Parts: sequence; structure tokens; C-alpha cells
Amino acid sequence: TARVVRVALGKDSYDIVIGRGLAARLSAFVKKRDYSRQALIVTDTNVGPLYGEKTAKTLRQVGLSPFIYTVPAGEPSKSLAVAEGIYTAVIEHGLDRKSPVFALGGGVVGDLAGFIASTYMRGVPFIQLPTSLLAQVDSSVGGKVAVNHALGKNLIGCFYQPDAVFIDLALMETLPAREISTGLGEIVKYGIIYDEAFFTFLEQHQQEVLSLAPEAAVHMIARSCEIKAAVVSQDEKEAGLRRILNYGHTMAHAIEQETGYVRYNHGEAVAIGMVGAADISRQLGLIDAATAARTTALIASLGLPTQAEGCTEDKMYEEIFHDKKTVNGKVHWVLMDRIGHTQIRSDVPENVVRQAMASVL
Ligand code: NAD
Ligand code: ZN
Repeated sequence: TARVVRVALGKDSYDIVIGRGLAARLSAFVKKRDYSRQALIVTDTNVGPLYGEKTAKTLRQVGLSPFIYTVPAGEPSKSLAVAEGIYTAVIEHGLDRKSPVFALGGGVVGDLAGFIASTYMRGVPFIQLPTSLLAQVDSSVGGKVAVNHALGKNLIGCFYQPDAVFIDLALMETLPAREISTGLGEIVKYGIIYDEAFFTFLEQHQQEVLSLAPEAAVHMIARSCEIKAAVVSQDEKEAGLRRILNYGHTMAHAIEQETGYVRYNHGEAVAIGMVGAADISRQLGLIDAATAARTTALIASLGLPTQAEGCTEDKMYEEIFHDKKTVNGKVHWVLMDRIGHTQIRSDVPENVVRQAMASVL
């Protein structure tokens, strides 16, 4: 049986369906829609060969005529140049305003396919079939779509909600262990910022969580989607509350920048950033040392790093002020005042930030 998480956004509301073997659910969904026959599946060179044809077959059985566009796996595919190649293909295949675009892959494919769907003919239907844990619990919820620019990540994009998201656990058996940890970084974040009971669940089920045991996996993915959906529904365009989702991300972005997006993947950088944010919270007296240590212990036990190798305090400090989320030179630090609750502070002194950085170096 599948679990369904509703993302409540007025007329843009949609369902996230989570379960094992979702072809029948996907078919039933497509049948109810009045989509055009011509359809596009965007995937990458890792996921496409494994699941592309199977997905196309499911869609053909309900009357669609999908073609598969496969991009090279990896972040560089999130570019305008790759997008342009896809536009050419969809025009040649005669896709129209009601032609659905399916994203079959991780966050790279989701962001890229969503960007295509949001811009081709000023917007065509978009369905997410996320296959990485990170894409399932993070990038497929909230409607941010984008490509990168040579001068910065995710700078060209918009908000565009999908018609539905189908998270099929049967597609995750091939996910490399490191990609599981990456997703777990964001999952731990949801516990810290929003839900102490969920944090405790993760502490108590570490083995099931790491091995994606079916029940634990469905629960942690569904609960993560619920939390992100709850935050996003209250603040679709990132005016306020949505900022809490950036817990751990201020330092993470600096670490990613400084290490050239190579040494650490996103969830790993967030893991280190969360250790830093807990340290700032502790220094300001918002939490005690034991609470900070508890979050670090869970992060480490899920196979995530807690120290940033290859970074220096000065460079990291400087990077933070170059981040695009730094508004008017002020850094809005998302801090925790207990597990399950945050506060945003823009008055954190330099020496406190530097000491927290030193604690993760
Ligand atoms: P990714 O898409 O590169 O996927 C990670 C790797 O796992 C890739 O090599 C991919 O081919 C492989 N993979 C995915 N599913 C697989 C499966 N089932 N079996 C085998 N291999 C599989 O990276 P990601 O971590 O999923 O996503 C990162 C991207 O997401 C970044 O570009 C980031 O900016 C974006 N993102 C967007 C949002 C948002 O709100 N839109 C949020 C977070 C991250
Ligand atoms: Zn993130």
C-alpha cells in the first residue's frame, strides 16, 4: 500500500505517492488527465538504462507516446546548453501545450526537466519520478526548478509545481550507498528543524534507515515530504518560513564553493553545515552541549561527515557573504533552540561564526 502526501498550494496542489511498484498508480493518474499523446521522459545515463524503457512502456500502455531524452549523469547537465538540446528535440517531436514532461532521475534531472516543462510553450504538464533519495525528499517538493550558470548554481530558474510525484522504492535498489547518505543529510535536517519525534525515530532505526528497509524507508521519505510540504505550503515563494529549510546550508554552500563541488556532495556538505549551526546555537546559549552532541552523533552514525577537509576558516567566512541568499550583506542564520525547533538570527557575531567554523575544520 502506498502513502500519499498532499502538497497544499491552492490550485497548484498535488500529491506525492510513495510506495513500492507504482506503475499501476502512475497509469491510473495519467488516464485521468487530458494530456496530449506526445510526451517526454528526461533521464540520465545512469538511470535511463535501468528504468527508462520500463517507464516508457507503462506510459505507452495508457496511450502516451513518450520519447526518452538521456543527458549525461552529473551536475554539468543542468545547463542552458543541455536545455537547448532538449527544446530542439521536443519541438521536432511535436510536443504541444498539453504534452507531459516526466523527470526520471535524481535532482539534476528533476531540476532540468522541470525547467524545460516550465518554459517550453510557457509551461507544459510536469510529473516527477525521482529516483535518488535526495530528489525524493528535497528537490521534488517545493517547485523550484533551475539550471546553473557558469557564474553560479541554480541562478536561472523559477517556481513551477508538478502535477504529481511518484516515488517508487523499487527503483532505489541500484542507488549507491553514498547517494543514500546524501539524502539522509536532508532527512536529519527535517527532524532537527521541525519534528523531534522524527529525529528520535532516525536515532532508533539507524540500520533500517541506512539499508532503506521498506517500512522505515516509506516512513522517512513520507515524513520528510510532509515536513517540506508543510513549510512550503505556508511560504511558497520563500518570503519567510521557508528559510528554516536552509538549516545547515549557509556553511554548506561555503564548503561546496570552497571545495569546488567535488569533494563533498550536497547532503554531505549540509551534514557538516548542521554541525556548525548546532555549534553556533550552543555558543549563543540556545541549546546545551549535550543537544549539539546528539545531533552530531546521529549525523556521524548515518555515514555522513562532520568535518570539512580542504577548507579554511578565512575562505569559508568570505564565501558566506558571496552566497546569493545573503540579502543586503546580512546572513540569516537558521539556528536550533531545541531539537524540532529553529530560530533565525541575523546578529551572530563574527567570532562566534569563526569559532563554529573552526569546530568543523
Ligand atoms: P543527481 O541527480 O546527480 O543524482 C545522484 C547520482 O545518483 C547520479 O549519478 C544519478 O545518475 C544517480 N542515481 C539517481 N537515482 C539512481 C538510482 N535509482 N539508481 C542508480 N543511480 C541513481 O543528484 P541528486 O543528489 O539527486 O540531486 C542534486 C541536485 O538536486 C542538485 O543539482 C541540486 O541543486 C538539486 N536540488 C534541487 C532542489 C530543489 O528544491 N529544486 C533541492 C535540493 C537539491
Ligand atoms: Zn539542501
